[in-house]
Amino acid sequence: MTDIEIAQSVKMDKITKVAERLGLGEDDIEPYGSYKAKINLPLKAKPQTKRKLILVTSINPTPAGEGKSTVTVGLGDAFHLLHKKVVIALREPSLGPVMGMKGGATGGGYAQVVPMEDINLHFTGDMHALTAANNTLAALIDNHIQQGNELEIDQRRIVWKRTLDINDRALRKIVIGLGGPVQGVPREDGFDITVASELMAILCLAKDLHDLKERINRIVIGYTRERQPITVKDLQVGGAIAALLKEAIKPNLVQTLAHTPAIVHGGPFANIAHGCNSVLATQTALDLGDYTITEAGFGADLGAEKFLDIKVPVLQKTPDTIVIVATIKALKLNGGQPLAELATENLAALAHGFANLEHHINSMKRYGVPVVVAINRFTQDTQAEIDQLVQACQKLGIEAVDTDVWAKGGAGALDLAQTVLQTVEESKEFTPLYTPESNLTEKIDTIVTKIYGGAHVDYSKKALNQLRRFKKLGWDKLPVCMAKTQYSLSDDAKLLGAPQDFTIHVKSFVPKLGAGFIVAMTGNILTMPGLPKHPAALDIDIDDNGKISGLF
Ligand code: ADP
Repeated sequence: MTDIEIAQSVKMDKITKVAERLGLGEDDIEPYGSYKAKINLPLKAKPQTKRKLILVTSINPTPAGEGKSTVTVGLGDAFHLLHKKVVIALREPSLGPVMGMKGGATGGGYAQVVPMEDINLHFTGDMHALTAANNTLAALIDNHIQQGNELEIDQRRIVWKRTLDINDRALRKIVIGLGGPVQGVPREDGFDITVASELMAILCLAKDLHDLKERINRIVIGYTRERQPITVKDLQVGGAIAALLKEAIKPNLVQTLAHTPAIVHGGPFANIAHGCNSVLATQTALDLGDYTITEAGFGADLGAEKFLDIKVPVLQKTPDTIVIVATIKALKLNGGQPLAELATENLAALAHGFANLEHHINSMKRYGVPVVVAINRFTQDTQAEIDQLVQACQKLGIEAVDTDVWAKGGAGALDLAQTVLQTVEESKEFTPLYTPESNLTEKIDTIVTKIYGGAHVDYSKKALNQLRRFKKLGWDKLPVCMAKTQYSLSDDAKLLGAPQDFTIHVKSFVPKLGAGFIVAMTGNILTMPGLPKHPAALDIDIDDNGKISGLF
């Protein structure tokens, strides 16, 4: 059966019932139909005190995705089976990859959050609200220029782009305002995918509505001819933009196939944005459950690094265990086995590709949090391969647990759950990667050498000029959000395994003062993806009764 067929075969609990089990009454939620709800904040119920946080991350992914969401959901279901009070906190999917190539973000097999069609398509409208808020700001900027440009915005230096939650390469660079004086002032513009937008990052980092509005007010939309930054506050529209996000800021409650509560909220990509679900979602999960299981996007070099260096300081809670998901096939691919042959046993390629997992284990260990490896089992994996991987991890003092949640749901992660239940109780001392006082280049240097395993950072002329300006503007001590390919530890997607002595190329910076970080653009990273030759949309259909098929 496909993921969607499995999801459609299971009877869901009414969302009011799921909420009730968490101690949430009728007034605490706003149902969106029968199976989804927004959670009203602040919570009225007294917060739980145990507050154990488990972060799920992975090795560098192959194009298929390594099953992080699947393992996150399956591990949550295993805790649920063990009668633990657990809440899962995931990101919400972007429509772009759902119609493109990656697939959804609701897990797979018997480890899924449901209703999967709704979550993967329009869900509770958060993405649309963000898109509308983003483009309202864009329209207000152009209108300000049209109406006399009191702030003296240089239309060649506007950095606020329009957004759409669709992979549409034709919109990457556009010209607007053509057609004469009444149609606006012509200028170059472009679209980013909504999940790469600063508003998405802001939504995911805001602590409440007040913080949301303050952050929106701090957004730099462009510069004057004298290169003085202009903010949303200068435009006096922060209130309007925040008002458009009134509902989107509330976390969404759904359930897994096994009725484990799951909060699915916020969805930045980890390669072009910060890759973690919202602080409010994680916070709410921590308040409602004894154990919160959350994931960060792509590999540990991207999602987990940003979770630990960008999200943790806002969340004010460090993980109690980091679970690194690895698959035999991805490690073999990292070890040089061709994609088409991954179903065949290959112990040598596995041994070689292990370098990638070893690298991620070591880089996560330096944060001072216990690390566990989850081997996400695929049907083609052989016992000899699993045993070899378990032993290789053992040599590093790391427990690797065979996990079969795709086929068995929570029952396939009971061993993993038992291991994690022990490690979360271990004493630990969280060690941040860098100090807030260090400057941008020092931070980038630390990330590149300590997390990626690189040797040098090369800055383009544009990046160097930007660094000089940022220093004058007092922005040179902000956290860094690296935009880098997910496929390699380096900025070259083809360099698999654990490359050494490589150089990371910083092409430019994008200041995101509302989010509170500076994005460093490396390699050839695009903030508006395109569609592949065979987009997933070609396989999706709906019948006369509204039943959707082919969504994976
Ligand atoms: P990630 O979160 O790493 O992107 P997902 O959990 O979304 O990955 O899984 C990506 C796809 O791989 C999903 O369609 C899922 O059904 C499939 N998948 C995950 N784990 C397995 C497995 N063990 N066996 C078969 N398919 C799997």
